[in-house]
Order: sequence, then structure tokens, then C-alpha cells
Amino acid sequence: MTRTGGSRVAPAGAAAPATATASGAPGDHTIQRGDTLSALARRFGTTVDALAAANGIANPDLIIAGATLHLVGAASTTPPAAPASGGVGRVVGRTTGLRPDLAGSLDALSRELGVTISVISGNRTLKEQALLYEKYRKGTGNLAAKPGTSNHERGQAADAYVDAVPLAKVPGAAAAAARLGLHFPVNGEAWHVEHV
Ligand SMILES: [Zn+2]
Repeated sequence: MTRTGGSRVAPAGAAAPATATASGAPGDHTIQRGDTLSALARRFGTTVDALAAANGIANPDLIIAGATLHLVGAASTTPPAAPASGGVGRVVGRTTGLRPDLAGSLDALSRELGVTISVISGNRTLKEQALLYEKYRKGTGNLAAKPGTSNHERGQAADAYVDAVPLAKVPGAAAAAARLGLHFPVNGEAWHVEHV
């Protein structure tokens, strides 16, 4: 069989490896068309292996739309706050142009913590970076990389807060962020988050 690298969702009605039980229970997720195990693992802060093991899924590339996925393998010690739609937790602000891995993990983090994450600076143009660098040089702004060298210019960095608290200082955020592949690489800038 040819591996395409992508997962696919089989039509409902095919033999379901995931157990079909009443959906809506806490810690359960009803598989939607378009879901992949890797995306769900990331969303719920767990791994493909843990989800596959918890649900008796022999082939992680094949999950069944409409089946119920038990999230008992989730890394979080508390049950996931809510599924993606209608749950607490969201990311607001300057999210346009952020790389999908960074945006996706920030989104998952906001839901895991049940908070609104505000991105006050995300993807920057060369001109915006030049302005920030100028302020830094004059001593009126935060440390800013030279124009052309900032990860912000590639959508790989976000400056993020929760209620004016730098993201890394929010209780529980650092550990949860690490599980989601996020890190805070700039010393003294607990708001500057990147995807590993
Ligand atoms: Zn930054």
C-alpha cells in the first residue's frame, strides 16, 4: 500500500476500530470528516500513540468519521476543557500570518488553560521590524532584532499575554506550552513565544 503521509477519514459505516459509545461525555470527541489523529493529538495535548492505544486503533492513518474517540490518553492530568468548537479559550489579536504550527499550538494552549491569549505582536513586515529596532536603539523600546533577522518577520514568533500577564508567567502555561511544542527562547521576554 502506498503511504501518502497524510491521514484520511473513512466513510461512516465502515468497520470502526474506535469504540462507538454515546458521544458528548467529557473526554470524548466525535471524529469529524477531515480530522486526523495527529491534529487531534495536538489539539488535545496528547500524542498519536497515546490516542491510538487508548482507542484500540491499529492503523493511526485510518480513523472513522462519526466514531467516538476517547481522550483518556491525553497528557493533561485534567480532562480537556472543551472540544474546539464552543469551548473556552481562544487566541485574539495579531494572529494573521502566524505559521500554522505556532498558531495551532497557541490555540490548543488557550483551550487547555481555558483563557484568552492576546497576541500583541505577531507576524511583522520589514518596515514594522525596522521601527521597533529603531526604538530599541534609542532605548525607548524592547529588545528587537535587526530588520531582516527577526523570527517575527517569518511568522515564527508571537508576543503573547493573558490579561496583561506575559504568557510564560501564567500559572501552568510554561509546562503546557512545552508539551505543545512551544518555547520562550528570549531571556527576559516571557511574552515572546515560538514553536520549536
Ligand atoms: Zn517577540
